[in-house]
Amino acid sequence: MDKLKKYEYSMDSCNHCGQCKWILPPKMHGWDFAEICPIHRYHRFDAYSGQGLLNISKEVLNGKLKIGEGLEKVLWSCTMCGACDVNCKSVRDIEVLETIHTLRTVCAEEGTAPESLLSMAKKVEETHNIYGESHDKRFAWLPEGFEDDKDSDTVLFVGCSAYTHPEIALAAIKILKAGGVKFRLLREEEFCCGASLWRGGLMADAEKLISRNMALFKEKGIKKIITACAECFGSFRGIYPRFGAMEAEVLHITQVAAKLLEEGKITLKTDGEMQKLTYHDPCMLGRLSEPWEAWEGEIKPYGLHVPEKKWRRGFDGVYAEPRAILEAIPGLETVEMPRNKEDALCCAYHSRETDGDMSACTAEERIREAKAMGAEKIVSACPFCLDALSDAMPMEDISVLLARYIEEGGAI
Ligand code: SF4
Ligand code: SF4
Repeated sequence: MDKLKKYEYSMDSCNHCGQCKWILPPKMHGWDFAEICPIHRYHRFDAYSGQGLLNISKEVLNGKLKIGEGLEKVLWSCTMCGACDVNCKSVRDIEVLETIHTLRTVCAEEGTAPESLLSMAKKVEETHNIYGESHDKRFAWLPEGFEDDKDSDTVLFVGCSAYTHPEIALAAIKILKAGGVKFRLLREEEFCCGASLWRGGLMADAEKLISRNMALFKEKGIKKIITACAECFGSFRGIYPRFGAMEAEVLHITQVAAKLLEEGKITLKTDGEMQKLTYHDPCMLGRLSEPWEAWEGEIKPYGLHVPEKKWRRGFDGVYAEPRAILEAIPGLETVEMPRNKEDALCCAYHSRETDGDMSACTAEERIREAKAMGAEKIVSACPFCLDALSDAMPMEDISVLLARYIEEGGAI
């Protein structure tokens, strides 16, 4: 309970205003498309919200609610998207998401983690990927004879999603090669980034894997990590610093691609296609990718944090670069959804196993929002968003889209 106690100030400071369920009024386009918490939107019950989970945490801390008697249903419905957290921070400087995560950690330690999470953790332990696929096949999609720059101190980290979406990793390679970026692959030494373990509150498993990966980057002298996957990016920036200093610079492929376009190092062709697109900000590339910094200190009256604390408000995510890429591609028209950037609605993929109906309903809502803006296609930068949203609407990964338009350096 000591872990939860650390967030007692956040629990006590909730003023029940409800802002964690809505985007801020000045940003609203009306009531429609203003709700931000996927679980509250679906369940219509306050327990299912940042506010509710803060209150539940307090009752657990006070011993009034017992772990294992049903609160887990609410807790593992949460997608851990952080939308409650950034919206709450416009009214209170408190840690909503960190509290929810800590409650998960405590519940997991008490043996009440969902079966699906434990099964995934077993797969990661045995095969080093979340799907339980053979580790030997992690890079099976590489074209025969493909050569990387083995002495480079820049690595392209493809992530577990290369099993399900190798086209994203291949597109990232095409972009880097076309732009003349030297990089290496870790091949059999690349393991899962560990985001799913951490998100699920399996801290011992997460720490073991993350420490292993950090030691590997150090041993290999890696100075720059480019990720093909938003999940790995958010993990390296927002989770890894909790376990030690990340010495390597971390970039998402969209950041590298936007710079290559700006510098004229990759040029694009027109293919005559005219499309109206909308960009869906993945949580792990957006608000959850904000760099994490440790804070220890004292909370004085009126919430004054001494020493001063750097709050993660979601503004420092990667928002401009994907939009710059879409702007640069000839023949595309981009429209914004009302819930965008730090206020993007989560696709809810990560609660598919624990609250399938809510997850499906949230994906439908996001598609409704895209269609309401007149979009013909959703573009995103995360393989999990792709899986969540592509059932009912045309969808494409931004790297794959960009790679189709690259004029030169097409062969990898
Ligand atoms: S926005 Fe923050 S203070 Fe307001 S109800 Fe939600 S958690 Fe509580
Ligand atoms: S993290 Fe997302 S799903 Fe969970 S309570 Fe906050 S807004 Fe709702």
